[in-house]
Amino acid sequence: MKLPHPLTGELFDSPVPPGSGWPEDPAVRRTPVAGGAADVVRLAATEDLHELEARVSVCRACSRLVEWREEVAVGKRKSFADQPYWGRPIPGWGAAEPRILIAGLAPAANGGNRTGRVFTGDRSGDWLFAALHRVGLANQPTSEHAGDGLQLTGARMIAAVRCAPPANKPTPEERDTCAPWFRQELELCLPTTQAIICLGKFGYDALLAGLAAAGGTIPRPRPPFGHAVEHQITTPHGDVTVLGCYHPSQQNTFTGKLTEPMLDAVLTRAKILADL
Ligand code: SF4
Repeated sequence: MKLPHPLTGELFDSPVPPGSGWPEDPAVRRTPVAGGAADVVRLAATEDLHELEARVSVCRACSRLVEWREEVAVGKRKSFADQPYWGRPIPGWGAAEPRILIAGLAPAANGGNRTGRVFTGDRSGDWLFAALHRVGLANQPTSEHAGDGLQLTGARMIAAVRCAPPANKPTPEERDTCAPWFRQELELCLPTTQAIICLGKFGYDALLAGLAAAGGTIPRPRPPFGHAVEHQITTPHGDVTVLGCYHPSQQNTFTGKLTEPMLDAVLTRAKILADL
């Protein structure tokens, strides 16, 4: 069976390199490929979470980000030169019917863009998964690659932008182009979600916009972002508690702005809210 190759768009035997350890590719030959913002709007309108993951995984709507993710995947960081790179958008990952959502910014060029799993393969992810394991939301403390057996308990991770941006900074246009993927995933998960952790202000802003798009009532003035600050948001699917959390970036963890007890406390609070 031929599939659209993520690096070239040509039909290829499989976008997943043999022996890479990745599970079966979410995309199949018939998976439609978004080539622009209007396509993303149209293709995000699916009620099937797995189909949404597949469509995200082959999206080519943002030319700058497509070029960057593929350039990094071909060039590779020296320390990962012997590894296959995913080089594609990163779908949401975790429970299909989550009680907790964890919303971040975007995958890292040599992290998620390499491993194919959000937050996996970089220092931020090391911090986050270790904390998830400490509080009982992950079955192991490390996330090495997409086939490493890691499982989350009742939690799912989603990113506001699905391709690694240069300097970790998507443009406003790229953020807006990718928003329909994020918003649809959020909407599909809302019926079971009790708590949403926002890692950093970018994720928080995207989340509030997504909740508003899903019919949620956002208080005015808009509640500010802050670490361990909670806001209750009413949505057509019920109330959810939005929890702010400083991003586990090296900038925050090296400086002590975010400590392990601080991160654990937010995750534990979410776990209690979600009755997990
Ligand atoms: Fe598609 Fe989002 Fe990647 Fe842009 S950032 S190419 S919309 S997946």
